[in-house]
Amino acid sequence: MILVVEDEESYQEALFAGLSREGYDVELASDGADALRRFVEHRPDLVVLDLLLPKMSGIEAIRRMRAIASVPIIIVSALDTETDIVRGLELGAEDYISKPYRLNELVARIRSVLRRVAPPPHVEPAVLQRDPLRVNAVVVGPFHINFARRVVTREGEPIHLSRREFDLLAVLLSPPGQVRTREELIDGLWSGRDLSDTRTLDTHVRRLRVKLEPDPRTPRYLVTVRGVGFRFEP
Ligand code: CA
Repeated sequence: MILVVEDEESYQEALFAGLSREGYDVELASDGADALRRFVEHRPDLVVLDLLLPKMSGIEAIRRMRAIASVPIIIVSALDTETDIVRGLELGAEDYISKPYRLNELVARIRSVLRRVAPPPHVEPAVLQRDPLRVNAVVVGPFHINFARRVVTREGEPIHLSRREFDLLAVLLSPPGQVRTREELIDGLWSGRDLSDTRTLDTHVRRLRVKLEPDPRTPRYLVTVRGVGFRFEP
């Protein structure tokens, strides 16, 4: 399904008709807030997003979508929003197209972006594959973690984690409270690497703490077990 975020009626109609004719399911949103609502509800495969929107800037909409899921986004811009295009691409949008554009041109971009992002399938960390008791979602303190959708929220607010950060958290939560040794974490997440290289692990632990902990310097959840590894306090 493609979520089209566009406030101009003439574009809305043309896009809905044109993309439907190409065989895509299309969901329309006409402002940023509406777009986020539909994004959460429908989980689109791709988003086409006009940067100049009422109620919320396109850039803000991209930022919030990116915090929820890494769905490919194609930015639509008027000619005078070049800095926004750059910011949008920096935030992880896949491509952009300038107004006015022809429908075939947009369809070609959509096809190419979908082709690019389809493979490779996500490979689960080894530690998770070994754990037969793994569940789809857990609630730990203020956090809700959905493993299947790779979404983490704290008191309902989405927290954006990189793929590695999420994998690390997932291992620490399988199950919560269990001490994971450094070797176990490195082996599970970066298999093939030198086990003595723990700096990458420390970097990811630090980043996770910054994102999850009320005070990252005195961690309450992701605690160090001296001489052994780490544990996520339930
Ligand atoms: Ca617009």
